[in-house]
Amino acid sequence: MPIAGLQNTTLLDYPGRVACTVFLAGCNFRCPFCQNAEIIGGCKDALPEEEFFRFLKRRQGVLDGVCVSGGEPLCGDIAPFLIKIKELGFAVKLDTNGAYPEKLHKLAEAGLIDFVAMDIKSSPARYPVLAGTACDIGKIKESAAFLLGGTLPYELRTTCVKPLHRPEDFVYIGQWLQGATAYFLQNFRQSDAVPAAGLAPFPPAELQAIRQLVLPYIPNTNIPGE
Ligand code: SF4
Repeated sequence: MPIAGLQNTTLLDYPGRVACTVFLAGCNFRCPFCQNAEIIGGCKDALPEEEFFRFLKRRQGVLDGVCVSGGEPLCGDIAPFLIKIKELGFAVKLDTNGAYPEKLHKLAEAGLIDFVAMDIKSSPARYPVLAGTACDIGKIKESAAFLLGGTLPYELRTTCVKPLHRPEDFVYIGQWLQGATAYFLQNFRQSDAVPAAGLAPFPPAELQAIRQLVLPYIPNTNIPGE
């Protein structure tokens, strides 16, 4: 998959590691609140893969992780890409929307992923609204169940968007993902780059109230930065 962008260093994206983040173009979803909408259909000026790996070699000993983000990285076959990253000694964090459980499973089994951050767009019933397209909720549930039932470290996260989310959606999310080890409620960021108009973040007090709704089901529910 084309490399649409590279963030040279991040202390935030990969828990406990100093990492870079590589953004792969292309996505099967069309979330109305997407912050990376310019790359979901592909990209024109892709960073050549050799250049990315030259960068990684120079950063050996400085960085210890690579976040593979997008877009949706699992749209394509990223195994060869991950193998090269692992051969250079970096841990891999995968950002995914959970639509490809079989690929997720295979990559994890092959030892090519060390950490997963999976987006939870909404409650199962509201998924198509937040994903911006018809989607197979069975696949999303399969990915979530794989993470909840497995040994691979992971976190789940929802971008909370007004007016697309209603407080009750988070009760359903909590019931669905009961017992998850980590769940983050990240507030929507206003930006001209998002595809839909009229979206807004939740006021801090409302987001805190939403957290209270989820806590009985997922005690480790947090709002980043708070
Ligand atoms: S899954 Fe992620 S990259 Fe794809 S459209 Fe939604 S927010 Fe954007």
